[in-house]
Amino acid sequence: MAIATVNPANGETIKTYDALGEEEIERRLATADSAFRTYRTTSFDERARLLRRAAELLDEDAEDIAYVMTTEMGKPIRQARAEAAKCAKAMRWYADHAARLLADEEPAESDVEDSGASRVLVRYRPLGPVLAVMPWNFPFWQVVRFAAPALMAGNVGLLKHASNVPQTALYLEDLFHRAGFPEGCFQTLLIGSGAVEDILRDPRVKAATLTGSEPAGRAVASVAGDEVKKTVLELGGSDPYVVMPSADVDRAAKTAVTARVQNTGQSCIAAKRFIVHTDVFDAFAERFTEGMKTLKVGDPLEEDTDVGPLSSERGREDLEALVGDAVESGATVLCGGERPDGPGWYYPPTVLADVTPGMRIHHEEAFGPVATLYRVADLNEAVAIANDTPFGLSSNVWTRDGAEVDRFVRDLEAGGVYINGMTASHPALPFGGAKRSGYGRELSGHGIREFCNITTVWHG
Ligand code: NAP
Repeated sequence: MAIATVNPANGETIKTYDALGEEEIERRLATADSAFRTYRTTSFDERARLLRRAAELLDEDAEDIAYVMTTEMGKPIRQARAEAAKCAKAMRWYADHAARLLADEEPAESDVEDSGASRVLVRYRPLGPVLAVMPWNFPFWQVVRFAAPALMAGNVGLLKHASNVPQTALYLEDLFHRAGFPEGCFQTLLIGSGAVEDILRDPRVKAATLTGSEPAGRAVASVAGDEVKKTVLELGGSDPYVVMPSADVDRAAKTAVTARVQNTGQSCIAAKRFIVHTDVFDAFAERFTEGMKTLKVGDPLEEDTDVGPLSSERGREDLEALVGDAVESGATVLCGGERPDGPGWYYPPTVLADVTPGMRIHHEEAFGPVATLYRVADLNEAVAIANDTPFGLSSNVWTRDGAEVDRFVRDLEAGGVYINGMTASHPALPFGGAKRSGYGRELSGHGIREFCNITTVWHG
C-alpha cells in the first residue's frame, strides 16, 4: 500500500511519500535507543511539563490538524476537532496522574512478614523503545492514548502509522519535538507493514502495541511472541447494543444512531448489532431507522455533515459485500443499502433486519454505517446473541431493571459493559477487549503499567 494522502471525499491523491530505507530505519532505532538511556532517568515532573506543552500546542493547532485528519481519512470536521481536543485532555490527564499511578507500592507488612525482607517495594520502571502500529480511523487519538502514558512512564515511542495518514503521522512527531521532548523520544517511521517484522525483531525494540484488524494483530503478536516481547492488541469489535422493555426507548434509539455512525461507522467500539426485546422492537426499529435516514451524508468539511465518506475504496467495497451477502440470504433493508453515484467513497446509513447466523455480517465486523437488528424474546436470548461473535470489545445495555443489569454485567463477554449509554473511551477508564478483540488495556492506571518492568525491590 502506497504511503499517501488520498482524499476520500473525491479520490484525489494529495501527497505521496517514499518509505524510509534500511539506513534511515537503522538511524532512527539507534536514536530511540540512545534517547531512552537518558530519558528514562528524567523525573515525572519534567515529563509532565513536556506533555502539558504538547497539549497546549495541540490546542493551538487544532483547526489545522482537524483539516488534515478530515482530508486524509474523511471524518466529519466537527468530529476531527473533538478528537484533537480529546487528545489534549488525555495528555493533561496523564501529566497530572502518572506519578501517582506509577508510585512505588509497598505490600502490607502482614503479607510479607515471612519473606525475610526488612522492607519490600514494587517499582514501575520503563521498558525502552515501544513500537506502536496504529490505524487510520482515529488517527490522532489512537496514537496519543499510547504515547501519553508511554512517555510519562519513561518509555520512548516509535510510530508506524497507517499508510493513508502520513501527514497526521509526521505532525505527531513534530508536535512532541516542538514540545521539547529530547530527540528520539517519539519518532514516526514512514514504512509499509512489510517493514514491521524486522523492526520488531530488533533487540533495541522492547515491546509493541497494535490497534487495527485481527490479521494485523496476529502478524505482529506472532513475531513478538517469537521474540518474547510484550504486546498489547486492540483489535476489531462488533459490539452489541441491547434494549430491554424497561428502557427509555426514545433515548435508546437516539443514542443508537450516534453509537452506530460516529466516525462514519468506522469505530471499533461503535455499537454494530442492535438486539431488541420483542416488546419494544417495533418502536425502537422505527425511531432508530428514522434517525439513521435523517442524517446528513456529505462533504466532511461542511460543519453540519454527520456522515462523511468511508476512508478508502476498499473499505466501501468490503462493506457493500457484507450487505450484499446479507440481503441475498434474506435480510430486509429498512434504509440505505445502495451506494450513491458520484465521486468519493460514500455509503449511506443502513439498517438491516431479519439477520441470521448464516450471514457473514452476523460474525464479521461491519466497518461503516451499517446496523443489524435482532428481535429477541427474553434476556437469555439477548445474551446469547450478544455473545455469538468472535469479538468482545465493549457492549451496551439499556434497561432500568437492576436484576437485569447484574445479569448482563455477569454474562456479557466484553471488555466493557455500558448501561443506558454508549461506549466511549475516557483517560481514567481502562479500555480494551476480550476474545478476538485483543488483550491488554490502554488508558487509566492499567494502560500505563502495560509497558513497565514491574520490579520487586527487596531489602534484607
Ligand atoms: P489494519 O489494516 O489492521 O491496519 C492497522 C495498522 O496495522 C496499520 O498501520 C497497518 O499498516 C498495519 N498492518 C496491517 N497489516 C500488518 C501486518 N501484517 N504486519 C504489520 N502491520 C500491519 O486496520 P485498519 O483497517 O487500519 O483499521 C480498522 C481495524 O482496526 C478494524 O478492525 C477496527 O475495529 C480496528 N480498531 C480497533 C480499535 C481498538 O481499540 N480495539 C481501535 C480502532 C480500530 P498499513 O496501513 O501500512 O497497512
